[in-house]
Order: sequence, then structure tokens, then C-alpha cells
Amino acid sequence: MRARLTPASAQTLNKGLHNMRVIVLGAGVVGITSAYFLQQLGHEVTVIDRQSTPGAETSFANGGQISVSHAEPWANPSAPLKVLQWLGKEDAPLLFRLRADAQQWSWIIRFLRECTPGRTRHNIRQIVNLGTYSRDTLQQVRRDTGLQYDQRRQGILHFYTNEKEFQAALAPAEQMRELGCQRSVVSADDAVQIEPALQTVKHQLAGATFTAEDESGDANLFTRELARHCAEAGVRFRMGCHITALHEAGGSLDHVEITNEDGHYERIQADAYVLSAGSFSPLLARPLGITLPIYPAKGYSVTLPVADASKAYEVSLTDDEFKLVFSRYTSSAGDRLRIAGTAELNGYERALNRVRCEAIVRRVEQLFPGAADPTQAQFWSGLRPATPSNVPLIGKTRVGNLYLNTGHGTLGWTHACGSGKSIARIVSGLAPELDFAFSGMGHASSPSAAALGRV
Ligand SMILES: Cc1cc2nc3c(=O)[nH]c(=O)nc-3n(C[C@H](O)[C@H](O)[C@H](O)COP(=O)(O)OP(=O)(O)OC[C@H]3O[C@@H](n4cnc5c(N)ncnc54)[C@H](O)[C@@H]3O)c2cc1C
Repeated sequence: MRARLTPASAQTLNKGLHNMRVIVLGAGVVGITSAYFLQQLGHEVTVIDRQSTPGAETSFANGGQISVSHAEPWANPSAPLKVLQWLGKEDAPLLFRLRADAQQWSWIIRFLRECTPGRTRHNIRQIVNLGTYSRDTLQQVRRDTGLQYDQRRQGILHFYTNEKEFQAALAPAEQMRELGCQRSVVSADDAVQIEPALQTVKHQLAGATFTAEDESGDANLFTRELARHCAEAGVRFRMGCHITALHEAGGSLDHVEITNEDGHYERIQADAYVLSAGSFSPLLARPLGITLPIYPAKGYSVTLPVADASKAYEVSLTDDEFKLVFSRYTSSAGDRLRIAGTAELNGYERALNRVRCEAIVRRVEQLFPGAADPTQAQFWSGLRPATPSNVPLIGKTRVGNLYLNTGHGTLGWTHACGSGKSIARIVSGLAPELDFAFSGMGHASSPSAAALGRV
């Protein structure tokens, strides 16, 4: 057992040496990929989570898309008007339920600031850069570990049933192509050729885009399998432990306070800490004076067993009008359709709204009649850790040995491997491998200390 480092010596290590004791706070897909890459770089890693298994909160039943092409953030020039029109509509794709909640209002003001054309272009650049790097890194992880997680590499087809929305998508798609994401514009005929199951609604299609390199797969299975791999490689897991506070001393984090698996108070110390607690990250950071602009955006998913394989889609899809994403998980464990979407900004509650659940099932039956068995639908809700820009917070904080890898919003599965590898390099004092606005790293366009409170 190595002697505990003082905060000062921990900072020296942060500047370049390896083999530190690192605690990862949170075992979602982002925490587990961070742990994997930290362990690969030679650190002694412990992951802490309140759940009994990894990936049990927002990484449990998401839409499954590895979608570099899904890079246009909610905050874009058309958003303010749409959000206003959607206020109070139970089945709106993006619903702000306004509350007497300072955190919500401050998030909304920041969201509106991100809606200018300039900010949107900047955010798309960040999201595409991280997405491309992350998809490549995921493929490398797959080669290195042999993990299987019902993955498919058939691309993502984004289809439009509204001409105006299709036209509005052309400029962002062009920007994505300029940034290296090959999101090509295709006709309704091409779309049906790529995914024949869309034949039923072909006459309604205004057009589509197709990104052949995008993928899909079960994020929860991936998280659990990668966690198992990490455990075999020596990563320690403290599951069933509730993190109650982070304690600072002399400019560094001194220890984490938990209620442990036996319900007892315990302190755990390390040389460095990575905060990956999803929507709950701001609650843990706030007492340190670090204000993270993350607000929970509740989304829904429905999982349906396939009833007739010939009527079900193979290619992962995005239905622009209904803001739903579709993935298919096929393995010896079964053949399932996963459909996810909708966003509701209403604090931390996760109640399932019947209207929204039924609207999703209705849309599946409209698009792919007879493909799935709606009587066996499994409904789920999860809280996306949303930043106003949909750009995650990855990097340093003003607390010397506390790092962020959080705020992944709608794209945490897509961005997990790239974010995990980047934070592992930053913690190790190595330069990240991509051009991205990392927090606290002096990047010209990284979120400033003022924008993030006292990060
Ligand atoms: C409906 C829906 C569809 C989505 N579809 C997609 C998609 O198709 N593609 C895509 O890329 N992304 C998608 N996402 C987004 C993606 O799922 C999230 O961004 C991602 O799961 C976030 O991972 P995370 O590890 O940051 O958070 P989480 O998975 O929530 O992990 C955080 C962990 O921290 C733990 N924790 C929090 N507080 C404490 C505490 N005090 N003590 C102990 N433990 C704590 C939690 O238990 C949890 O395990 C979707 C999300 C939703 C809701």
C-alpha cells in the first residue's frame, strides 16, 4: 500500500506522473469508460456508485445510437419560438415545465444564449469533433476487449416527414460534412432502399440524411460488460455506496464522504477524483462553490419484443418530426426494438407520463405496423444531464485534483469513450488527442470560469 499523498504532492503527480489513486464518482457509461482508460494508463482506480450495478440510471435504457450525425443541439436558432409554442403541450418533443427553481431559470437563460447562429455553429463543431473521436475510440475498445453489446454498424438514417424541417436540416448537415462527419442527403427512394421497413410511410417522406459510419448498440450492456472487464483488470468497485459530500482542504479535494454498503459513514481518499455523477454532478459540486450548468432533461424509452422480424427495421433511425430514435438489439437473448425520445425539463422527478408513453407506441405502430408486440412494452424514463449547449464538461476545475467528465446530455453514449479517454489523459498530465473546448485548459473557446461559476 502506498503512503497517502498530500494535496501538494498529488498536484505534482497531476503534472505528469502516472500511477495515482483515482476515484471515479459515478458508474454510468461515462464513469465506467473513464475508469477503463484511467486503469489503462496505470492508475489505481476505484469507482463509487449508489446503485448495485453499473449503468443503472441514465445509462440504463437509452436510444442506443452512436450518432456523430446527431450533432445539432437543442439550442439552435429555431428553438426559442418552438419551445414557446410547445409550452404546456403534454406531447411536445421538448417541454419546459416552468418552476420556481433558480437552477432551472438560470439554465434556460444560458440555453437561450446558445441559440444564436454563431454559438450553434461553435457547439456543432465541438459535438462533431468529440463524436468522431469517440466513435473511433469505441471501435478501438471493441477491438481491444472483444466486447459484445448487440452492436450494429449499419449507419443512422434520419428521416423527415416535414418539408420545412428537412430544408432546415440541410445547412447543419453541410457543416457536419465540412467537419468530417459524412452525413449525406438522400431522397425518399434512397431512404427506403437503405431501410425497406420504411416502405409503408414512403409517400410521407420529405427526404432523409444517412450517415453510414454511425452505429448503435445497447449502452447498458456495454457499461456492465466494460465494468466487468475493468474489475478483472483490477479496478475496485464500491457499489451501493451513496456519496454524501466532497471535502476540500487547501485548494484540493481531501476526501469523499459516503454512506457505505452497510449504511455506515465512511471517508475515502485518493490523489485525484473524476466527477461523473450525471444529472447529480451539480448537487455534489455546488457545496465546493463550483456551479455546473447541468439540468436534468427527462426522456422516455420503450422496449418492445419483435413480433415479425420481416416488418422491423434493421438500420438505426431518427424520426425528425416526433424526435424519436430507433435501435434494434438482436442477440441470442432476444430481438428487441428500442425507441427513445422526448425531453421534459421539470427537476429530478422521473414519473412516467402515460400520454407520452402511448404516443411513442402509437408512432411505432404507424411506421412499422405488425413489427412489434405492444402488449409487452417496457417503459422507462431517465434524466439526461443536459448542459445549455449540449457540449459536455470535460477537464479541470479550480479544485486542483477534482476533474469533470459530466453533462453529456443527449449524447452520453456517443461521447463516452472519447470523453473517458480524454479525461484519463488530462488526469495523467497528458495532452488530450482532439480539438475540443476542455474545461479549465486554457482553450480559447472553453467554458470560462465566469460561465461555469467558480469551476
Ligand atoms: C430517453 C433517452 C435517450 C437517449 N438516447 C441516447 C442515444 O441514442 N445516444 C446517446 O449517445 N445518448 C443517449 N442518451 C443520453 C445518454 O443516455 C446519457 O447522456 C448518458 O447515459 C449519461 O451517462 P452518465 O454516466 O453521465 O450518467 P448516468 O448513467 O446517470 O450515471 C451517473 C451515475 O452516478 C451515480 N450517482 C449520482 N449521484 C450519486 C451519489 N450521490 N452517490 C452515488 N452515486 C451517485 C448514479 O447512480 C449513476 O449510476 C439518451 C438519454 C435518454 C434519457
